[in-house]
Amino acid sequence: MKNNQIKAMERLSIDSGMRTLIGNMWKHGYRTLNSCEGESSEAYVMFNGGDGWFEENASKYGLTKVENKACCQREFLEEVKKHNLDPSMFVDRRKTCGCGAGVNGNVVYRGQLMQFSQ
Ligand SMILES: [Zn+2]
Repeated sequence: MKNNQIKAMERLSIDSGMRTLIGNMWKHGYRTLNSCEGESSEAYVMFNGGDGWFEENASKYGLTKVENKACCQREFLEEVKKHNLDPSMFVDRRKTCGCGAGVNGNVVYRGQLMQFSQ
């Protein structure tokens, strides 16, 4: 890994266990928004974009996609309506749904991280 990439990862507080994976994702055009190698909980990575490389290789890292469910679309509207507000006045800026799945173009994968050196 190049020196400037290591510095960027330190600045972004990317867990050491995630750095090989995150470096590969950057190489493949993914914008990684958040990640954690998981200690008491599962590892996860949230991203958008990319060229399909991660989706093909995620299982080698022990990660699987958190699929969207009915709640992912409903959650935002229900929250707005709960406050008797007009949904057209608001932009849905959520990155994730309460269920943990990515929304608005973002994707979340999680699982027990496996170290995989390629
Ligand atoms: Zn959901």
